[in-house]
Amino acid sequence: MSKKDTEIVEAGRRKSWTLGSVNPPVFHTSTVIFDSVAEMAEAGRKSHEIMSYGRRGTPTSFALCDALTTLSGAAGTVLYPSGLAAITTAMLTFAKAGTKVFIADNIYEPTRYFADHVLAKFGVEVVYYDPLIGAGIANLLDDRVSVVVMESPGSITMEVQDVPAIAAAAHAVNATVILDNTWATPLYFDALSHGVDVSVQALTKYVVGHSDAMLGSATANARTIDTLRRQSGAIGQCAGPDDVYLGLRGLRTLPVRLAQHQQSALTIAKWLQDRDEVAEVRHPALPSAPSYELWRRDFTGASGVFSFVLKEDNEAAITAFVEGMRHFKLGFSWGGFESLVMFYRHLSRIRTATPWSAGPVIRLQIGLEDVDDLIADLADAFKRYDAIIEHH
Ligand SMILES: *Cc1c(COP(=O)(O)O)cnc(C)c1O
Repeated sequence: MSKKDTEIVEAGRRKSWTLGSVNPPVFHTSTVIFDSVAEMAEAGRKSHEIMSYGRRGTPTSFALCDALTTLSGAAGTVLYPSGLAAITTAMLTFAKAGTKVFIADNIYEPTRYFADHVLAKFGVEVVYYDPLIGAGIANLLDDRVSVVVMESPGSITMEVQDVPAIAAAAHAVNATVILDNTWATPLYFDALSHGVDVSVQALTKYVVGHSDAMLGSATANARTIDTLRRQSGAIGQCAGPDDVYLGLRGLRTLPVRLAQHQQSALTIAKWLQDRDEVAEVRHPALPSAPSYELWRRDFTGASGVFSFVLKEDNEAAITAFVEGMRHFKLGFSWGGFESLVMFYRHLSRIRTATPWSAGPVIRLQIGLEDVDDLIADLADAFKRYDAIIEHH
């Protein structure tokens, strides 16, 4: 355990927000009524701790922002209606026409779509780079670069990036450094102390933790928070009160849930390493992982999402693998209490700087079920898969 386990319980629980209860109420509001002009002006000046208008925040959202800010050692946090809204708004805030935005090639696919189809429309040049480039990125950057985006590890292929080296190279050309930190959460990777300016979370995943809300956050340092807050506000970004409440509620138990996700995922990753059907297990905390040393240097834990590469690409066999599982459900997303399985047969479509030549990828989100039940489910899936491969 660590100091963060205490912070996560206590942060954001100001009495002016909770009104004496343990948790703040769920404020459903647009309009706030003031007793005086002076009170109205004060609320306007302190709109991230005093209610001024629903869109600018309520004690429910102040509490969650304050907790995430404390946990990340940051200057402030802005909430968004989804993780995608958080990452895209952060990019939009710091990108400028006539500049280049550098994006890790393993980036979440919808973020790539935003860059290619929305950012590019405004005269921003989008460049993808090898996520494993490390300090070598300095050779690619110049003073025309406005933003460098990382996702570490990438949520399908799981490469861990050298965040401090890439951030230092980006800062040397005055670019803003944005990291999608959804996999590690603020508990397992301290983004800002590793040089990141804006750390984005799809709170939808581990923080909400129960697959019942969409929510995102961007936590920023002193250099970037004012611009991020103003421009996110200018676009009208805000999150619904019930979803914000679910985020705050999930956050309180994140450490105990993550510890179990971590333990079960590592057990299953090691079990998969011994399977003949598997070419490679891509879990950042396995010593055989290509960027294991970076994970060990920078992270304090591993969450429950990882992937493995199959030796054979056979559509019918992969379909048989993922269909008919008892515990692993076929679905997008991750971070909830339930186990999920996803497959990627055509990864080359969503990578451009580093073509994918390895086999098809199966991604697992390891939930909170009994780990032996999950292993038995996977063993049966391999039986279905093998039966088709052998007939082929
Ligand atoms: C899910 C996800 C997002 C987007 O979050 P939503 O809340 O679904 O919009 C962004 N980045 C990563 C790495 C994700 O897994």
